[in-house]
Amino acid sequence: MTTEMRHTTSPVLIVGAGPTGLMLAAELSRHGVQARLVDRRSGPVRESRALAVLMRTLETFDDLGLAGSVVRDGVPIIGIQISDGADEVASVELGKAESPFPFSVALPQSRTEEILLEHTTRLGVEPEWGTEVIAWRGDGDSTSVIMRRADGAEEECTAEWLVACDGAHSMIREAARIGGAGHDLNRTFLLADVRAPWRLPRDRIQVIFGGHGVFAAVPLPRPDGWRLVIDYEGDDVHELGPHPDIEVFRRLVAAETTLDPALSDPLWTTQFTARQQRAERFRSGRTILCGDAAHSHSPVGGQGMNTGLQDAYNLGWKLALVVQGAAGEMLIDSYEQERSNVAKQVLRRTERATKAVTLHSPVSRMMRDGVLHLLDRIRRAEEKVVRSFGGLNIEYRDSPAVLDRWQAAGPSGPAPGDVAPDGFLRDRNGYETLRHLLRGPGHRLLLFGGQQQPAALAEAADRARAVLGSLGRVFTVVRKPMLDVPAGVFVDQHGDVHRRYGADRPAMFLIRPDGYLGLRADAHDVTPLREYLDRLRQ
Ligand SMILES: Cc1cc2nc3c(=O)[nH]c(=O)nc-3n(C[C@H](O)[C@H](O)[C@H](O)COP(=O)(O)OP(=O)(O)OC[C@H]3O[C@@H](n4cnc5c(N)ncnc54)[C@H](O)[C@@H]3O)c2cc1C
Repeated sequence: MTTEMRHTTSPVLIVGAGPTGLMLAAELSRHGVQARLVDRRSGPVRESRALAVLMRTLETFDDLGLAGSVVRDGVPIIGIQISDGADEVASVELGKAESPFPFSVALPQSRTEEILLEHTTRLGVEPEWGTEVIAWRGDGDSTSVIMRRADGAEEECTAEWLVACDGAHSMIREAARIGGAGHDLNRTFLLADVRAPWRLPRDRIQVIFGGHGVFAAVPLPRPDGWRLVIDYEGDDVHELGPHPDIEVFRRLVAAETTLDPALSDPLWTTQFTARQQRAERFRSGRTILCGDAAHSHSPVGGQGMNTGLQDAYNLGWKLALVVQGAAGEMLIDSYEQERSNVAKQVLRRTERATKAVTLHSPVSRMMRDGVLHLLDRIRRAEEKVVRSFGGLNIEYRDSPAVLDRWQAAGPSGPAPGDVAPDGFLRDRNGYETLRHLLRGPGHRLLLFGGQQQPAALAEAADRARAVLGSLGRVFTVVRKPMLDVPAGVFVDQHGDVHRRYGADRPAMFLIRPDGYLGLRADAHDVTPLREYLDRLRQ
């Protein structure tokens, strides 16, 4: 007897409950859209995989109230020590970057996903495990897939929007015939999560350029726990199998470093070949690619999971507004434009870094070591490297989803498309950071009034509120000291936040839900705000 296929519909179907899919489901829910989230796995991931939670991701987690768990459960990393096996040749201090989180956190991906899963579940979305998408069809205004459950039951789901978060080997990307350039870097890395009796600082990553290749050790959140990442040159790589024996790692530690090779208790070992790949489009009709499905790269620099999480954080609010009919498809296109540019940069950077750290000829290694010495001396370069690997230099100034209507001559401060600056302000409850005062979904509009009384901006605030409607909240920031601070007003007594925004006269800054500036304009004119919102509706 054959069972009839079930037919269902959904406004948004997310395929893949890895970090990207979980983040996207949570972001959609936070912005008022309940998506379906399916994954062919029988449950959450157990492998430690991505270890680095980088600065911009920590800032994002902070916005979602998750940074505390991530920092508590992981190992904060404040620097990288680079040596040639005997002496330190360079060091990188992550604290050089201006961020509320001037460090990275080493946390196994399994725990990061657990934290995200709890968050997603709290927001009302339960992943449907054991549900595999086996066929895809996309046409015009909808897209449909056939899904098969573990018990063999099949379902055809028609979705207004389908988001493929199904990883680097995305079946949906293939089915939608979205091509893309990809190439192997021909570098194989061996990886092991082990215990080691090393007396090394546990707040730093060790990178050792040994006789044959590069060796990195990252502290893991368990006693004496280390993640080893070794660039492997041997011809016998296939004989090592998918999970190389711990003896291989002991041998390499003894041969390449002066560290004690008495490794024990391997939780996970693996090997992988670095591959660079980016989809030529992140969208085909109503199907959108996100995370590794759209781009994947060498793990040097720990960018993969972080980039996927930022994709989802960028797409979530946009897709929610489109599904709710409050915005047009231009906003989805802006996701593609903003994030494919980021992916391009990440690919370029990780490829360069991978090639640099895995140089094998003695001459090129000497050159690399020379560059490292130089880098160690040029602190500005160090700060740039830290910012770029921490994800802090990402900006969307060329995006269609931002607008600059600031009329002042020689504007200073951040431009639309930059991350909204933070700072301390006082509201009716006391001092707090701006980013925490603004927490919550939707746009946030700041009216800077300088030395004016809040009342002088009341009319402008009311007009802005009327234009913004349910899309966001309006706040006034003034420098005037006052005893009783009214609701919706922040006091910037010393003018620090005004300075950070370059608000040397009454100004309006609209902060998008993902923390980037969407609009900069004069405080008293709502025409630019209307123009910005009209853009979103295109
Ligand atoms: C060894 C290793 C080390 C890494 N180290 C780092 C690091 O230090 N830092 C970093 O940022 N990144 C790192 N990465 C990369 C990181 O793991 C990925 O970038 C990240 O997992 C991507 O998340 P994602 O959600 O986009 O895809 P994935 O995590 O791959 O999730 C895709 C999900 O889709 C599901 N799926 C696939 N096809 C279907 C289908 N047809 N139907 C239903 N479900 C489907 C899968 O079961 C899976 O759960 C590492 C990766 C590896 C392998």
